[in-house]
Amino acid sequence: MAPSAPTAAASGSARGAASGSHPAYVPVLSNFIGGMWVDARASGTVDVFNPATGKVIAKTPLSTRGDVDAAVAAAKAAFPAWRATPVVERARTMFAFKNRLEEHFEELARIVTTEHGKTLDESRGSVRRGIECVEVACGMPSLMMGSGLEEISRGIDCDVHRQPLGVFAAIAPFNFPAMVPLWFLPTAVATGNTFVLKPSELVPLSQKRIFELLETCVPPGVVNVVNGGVDVVNGFCEHPDVRGVSFVGSTPVARHVYRTGTNAGKRVQALGGAKNFIVVMPDANMDKSIGIVSESCYGCAGERCLAGSIVVTVGKSHGDVRERLVAAAKSIKVGDGADAGVSMGPVIRESARQRVISYIEKGLAEGAELLLDGRGHTVKGREKGFFLGPTVFDKVNPKSSIGREEIFGPVLSIMNVPDLPAALELLHAHPQANATSIFTSSGKAAREFAMHAPPAMVGVNIGVAAPMSFFPFGGSKESFFGDVKAHGRDGVIFYTEQKVVIERWF
Ligand code: NAD
Repeated sequence: MAPSAPTAAASGSARGAASGSHPAYVPVLSNFIGGMWVDARASGTVDVFNPATGKVIAKTPLSTRGDVDAAVAAAKAAFPAWRATPVVERARTMFAFKNRLEEHFEELARIVTTEHGKTLDESRGSVRRGIECVEVACGMPSLMMGSGLEEISRGIDCDVHRQPLGVFAAIAPFNFPAMVPLWFLPTAVATGNTFVLKPSELVPLSQKRIFELLETCVPPGVVNVVNGGVDVVNGFCEHPDVRGVSFVGSTPVARHVYRTGTNAGKRVQALGGAKNFIVVMPDANMDKSIGIVSESCYGCAGERCLAGSIVVTVGKSHGDVRERLVAAAKSIKVGDGADAGVSMGPVIRESARQRVISYIEKGLAEGAELLLDGRGHTVKGREKGFFLGPTVFDKVNPKSSIGREEIFGPVLSIMNVPDLPAALELLHAHPQANATSIFTSSGKAAREFAMHAPPAMVGVNIGVAAPMSFFPFGGSKESFFGDVKAHGRDGVIFYTEQKVVIERWF
């Protein structure tokens, strides 16, 4: 079905902008399709909150399959000319994009804090990580190079080229509004593909701003945004003109996207949820390690796919670690992430707060020992914010719900085991395997752990084992569905096809 023409709406219009000064004014976001900000055909919207104040600051339209069709058609139409644009010129658009992001760095960090709640320092760190992905894409002429060999037989040469495929779609989670889409967009676009993004409907504002900055850097149709939820996701996964899908979110949805997308013949990389174990050996440097472990568990209010969730104390480290972790958790200042001195912001929604509280209740019912209770934590002047204090449980059963399920909030569970093999057994028994860390002074223990731990991202005396933009990012087991990870060289592989040309000239 041919998509009908969308209605133009300036991004600063009543529907499109989040800058209204009237207190009751709540803007509805627009989609960005074919180089224009356009109204979605949506009938419904989702509220976007500032989680620190509980105020609604914008509305995300729940776009329809018709909006998906229009965006994919625009991307498809832009592909031939974009593909024919020399790679050095495509790389230059990434240099321009990087400069625009740098000029607006602080503004972007503040938007992330406003829509997500994390502290400004955390937001700055995430915007920086996103920009680094653009920097890598600036090197696309080198990264995309193929290989070749002459005289593979008498008078015959063979060359391998990497070619773009067409339209790629990406679907983002709520926890890194600016960064996660930038894991994909720069590589997809610099390799010569065209791109359609669905930001998380909970946090669409930083992508709105990023696309306003990007729209002057690339031709119309090369990058597009369709706001919305499930219908947009399924629309991408089933659309015949979408060649591949990059997804980041929870495990059930990652599995669904992988199945639906691959069933429709697409390339899919689907990064899922996590339950990350941090192992603390008795020989760890406790003075240096515990602050890092605590930050891993409580940074971004525990809403990181790389967040430490289970602290596995080995042997006699237990008593010391437990005492120090509780002290570290008590020292955390909870508040509005935009305020100076705050070390932990709110969780994303009241429903998320209630979900975390229900896990604390389950932990108690399951017999875990509650050392610090974050329920009922309020912040003066921010009574409507979605705040929780840090929670610490000890004696957590690995088979219990708090020992097994992703809580995605500021709840830390301690499990004690006699030795490193027993710690590794805990990791092997868990279906997810995103990231893990060991804290130790023993090279032998670290080596053994790195070799045998199932997660695909391992930290040694590092709390958040996040691969930088030039390395592959992604877990294993039920934390990742696909073959090729996000960003770095893996990104180039995902977004290109190898073509082998064998030549003979008479
Ligand atoms: P989510 O799975 O609820 O949503 C992710 C995306 O999928 C959103 O854009 C949403 O609109 C869409 N979606 C939600 N439900 C859907 C459904 N039933 N069908 C189709 N689409 C659907 O995840 P979230 O709550 O936004 O993000 C948190 C999750 O993301 C956590 O599980 C976290 O571990 C994970 N995460 C993983 C990584 C990683 O690198 N592995 C990184 C960040 C976040």
